[in-house]
Amino acid sequence: MKIAFIGLGNMGSPMASNLVNAGHDVTVFDLVESAMQALESEGAKRADSAEGAAKGAEVVISMLPAGVHVKGLYLGRDGGPGLLEALEAKPLIIDASTISPEDARTVAAAAKEKGLTWLDAPVSGGVGGAKAGTLTFIVGGEAAGFEQAKSVLEAMGKNIFHAGDSGAGQVAKICNNMLLGILMSGTAEALALGVKNGMDPAVLSEIMKQSSGGNWALNVYNPWPGVMEGSAASRDYQGGFLTDLMAKDLGLAWELALGSKATVPMGSQARNLFALHSAQGNGAIDFSSIQKLYRAG
Ligand code: NAD
Repeated sequence: MKIAFIGLGNMGSPMASNLVNAGHDVTVFDLVESAMQALESEGAKRADSAEGAAKGAEVVISMLPAGVHVKGLYLGRDGGPGLLEALEAKPLIIDASTISPEDARTVAAAAKEKGLTWLDAPVSGGVGGAKAGTLTFIVGGEAAGFEQAKSVLEAMGKNIFHAGDSGAGQVAKICNNMLLGILMSGTAEALALGVKNGMDPAVLSEIMKQSSGGNWALNVYNPWPGVMEGSAASRDYQGGFLTDLMAKDLGLAWELALGSKATVPMGSQARNLFALHSAQGNGAIDFSSIQKLYRAG
């Protein structure tokens, strides 16, 4: 298929690579030149703008940091036209970014007015899952669009869920990431407590993995440096899932809770921890670096 891929960051780059490897005709666009060059060397074409990438595409996929970027791309910014306005054909549009359900519904409704199908399809699985093509896609939007998207998403993911109507993918993703934020800070806290009391972090990790404290953050994303080969912690927290993106997702959970009068005391605590960690200069490193907050104490 002819696919436009917009946003080649930590997640978007390996996702676009997998589409190229699956034999799709992929045209990429990012604001960062080097990200486009890397994809070009893997067989993708590159465009000078999002509009250029989307020209003639059957499917448009975006993977951007936050709602402000997604709305800017599709609806326009500073009074200028957005991609929805510029499209000549009617490609299927899949946004894999994590944004608020409200923003997702706004863009999906604007697309619908133009006769376009726009799906929210946030992902879970991290950079490791993006590289391995084993992401979980959590899709919100009409069933017909979901069925159409499935074969493309299968080149990048293993589990493809239809969560419900527009915005439902984001609701599910935000619940998941609130839990992840809680689990990562809890895991870092437990490791720091053990180490302060003489435990080897690797030994403690192995014990908890085989015990009732086992969880994804501990089992596959260990936050203590040197415990797990290939983890963000073992490469000085470079790359991965940035602290600022986790802080954003916990903010989305907080907004969702406010709007629905839900109580999220653990999620609020996690939000404050990641916001503080970010304010201390750790926004642009992996979120498992929350471990540093506990090690400092
Ligand atoms: P990132 O910051 O590494 O990459 C974002 C990319 O978007 C950058 O390359 C940036 O230059 C580009 N970009 C921004 N505005 C643009 C525009 N207008 N046009 C073209 N390109 C633009 O972020 P990421 O880690 O790849 O995450 C992307 C999304 O996926 C976020 O919403 C994040 O919350 C979510 N997510 C990330 C992970 C993870 O482990 N990193 C996991 C699941 C979900």
